Amino acid sequence: MITFQDALSRLLCPTAGRADFAPRPAIIQARAADGSMPDRAVTYGQLEELVGRAQAGLTEAGVREGDTVLLCAPNSPELVAAILSTWRLGAVALPVDFRLTGAEVDNLVARLEPRAVVSVEPISQRAVTVRLGALPEAPAGFDGRGLDRVSQDGLALVILTSGTTGVPKGAVHDLGSLINNVSELAATFGLRADDRAFLPLPTSHIFGMAVLLAQLLTGGCIVLSDFHPADFWNTVTRLKVTMVVGVPTIYGALINLPSPPANEIPVQQYLSGGAPLPVSLAHEFEKRFTRRIVQGYGTTETKILCFNKDGPPESVGRPLPSVVIEIVDQNDEVVGEGDSGEIRIAGPSLMKGYLNQPEASAQVLHRGHYHTGDIGYIRDGLLYISGRSKEMIIVAGNKVFPSEVETVLRQHPLAHEVAVLGVPHRKLGQLVKAVIVVKSGELCDLLCGDEAMKKQAKEELNARFREFCQQHLKRELRPMEWEFRPISCPLPKTLTGKIDKKQLEATPA
Ligand code: AMP
Repeated sequence: MITFQDALSRLLCPTAGRADFAPRPAIIQARAADGSMPDRAVTYGQLEELVGRAQAGLTEAGVREGDTVLLCAPNSPELVAAILSTWRLGAVALPVDFRLTGAEVDNLVARLEPRAVVSVEPISQRAVTVRLGALPEAPAGFDGRGLDRVSQDGLALVILTSGTTGVPKGAVHDLGSLINNVSELAATFGLRADDRAFLPLPTSHIFGMAVLLAQLLTGGCIVLSDFHPADFWNTVTRLKVTMVVGVPTIYGALINLPSPPANEIPVQQYLSGGAPLPVSLAHEFEKRFTRRIVQGYGTTETKILCFNKDGPPESVGRPLPSVVIEIVDQNDEVVGEGDSGEIRIAGPSLMKGYLNQPEASAQVLHRGHYHTGDIGYIRDGLLYISGRSKEMIIVAGNKVFPSEVETVLRQHPLAHEVAVLGVPHRKLGQLVKAVIVVKSGELCDLLCGDEAMKKQAKEELNARFREFCQQHLKRELRPMEWEFRPISCPLPKTLTGKIDKKQLEATPA
């Protein structure tokens, strides 16, 4: 495998030592869906220049080794360059959700004290802004000298956890472990320099960041684009995309859309991560597009852990070479093959801890292991995830994983989206509640009507879903409370398309 220094040099000085890469496309920013901006290709040579300009911008803003740089902007070649230039300076990149408001960014600035904020327009009242559209010219002659001083162990990246309530925690990663993780991802996934990867995911999420870096390390091309379902196939065929990197909601949307015939689609590989991929969706997708979706698993705290290239779609696959995945019981003892327990991770991919939160770090990191809070089992070397321990519902002592119930409810012909959660109950402790977004049609229309129509639709839906559950679910798994929404009222999602259950609990329709 590639050494740290070589990988660092390829990423931070893309053409140093490989001048033949200069004319090759590194990043294509796909045109805006409204046609306001054309496709824009940036070669490795131009990326190198942009990294130099971003470095100059950060230096002007006073950024020095060890400082933190908060980056709040949608994906663009300039944003990528700004992240890379942060590491050239030995500083720490803190990419955040580009949809944050000015007040939210200011809160983070007050808490995390970055030296500068990188954004499209000035967004923070409290920090120096480096504007991506107005990067200064780079001083001539930066050729990567000094990169040998960039430390493997120094802090390099902070990714905020996706917790939607309370204060998000910042998982801290060093450059050595980040580069090791993305090199392993590139090598085991088999990324190639002639790949073009469609990436609609933000760099503020570890999945988007890891794939971006893996692709640049390999010398391939990244296609940065928002996901516009109606424009998707046009974009991938126009830009000759060979690989799509998405989250399950994206693949769910594609299933419901017209598409070109499978033999006219240039995509060879589909990768999904960030959230469970429903098995029914995996099957349907493969049938329709004649290619399987490769499902990966990772967390903000551990980076990319495994992916499933050839196992059954229920599994998230085998670990990357240096990742150790074990299943443990409540006493932290490793359980036997096929037995269920908490998924525990060891190896160099682990974060160093949460930024300035030693207690929260100690809760999840013990003696070189990260405790994911995910429950699963390993069979024939393949990892299977049953659900998250925090989401487990306990109904009169019976343990229910929402995903078990969701998998069944999703098969109902009227179900468009499904979420299952536990709600407090005086006698039973908790009970199972199902929230269903109903597919368009007569009942969906009635749900949008007046009170009498809504009542009629809910009674009918209640009866149909209850009957379905009697046929397909064990008694203790059957929801006792139901909420039905029309298709115009989708479930709330996090940036990576995970159903945001905390928001769902806080604001029932
Ligand atoms: P995040 O740190 O926001 O990326 O969330 C990580 C969590 O997402 C994991 O601990 C899992 O609960 C969940 N997750 C990620 N990928 C998968 C997957 N392929 N299948 C099931 N759960 C997943």
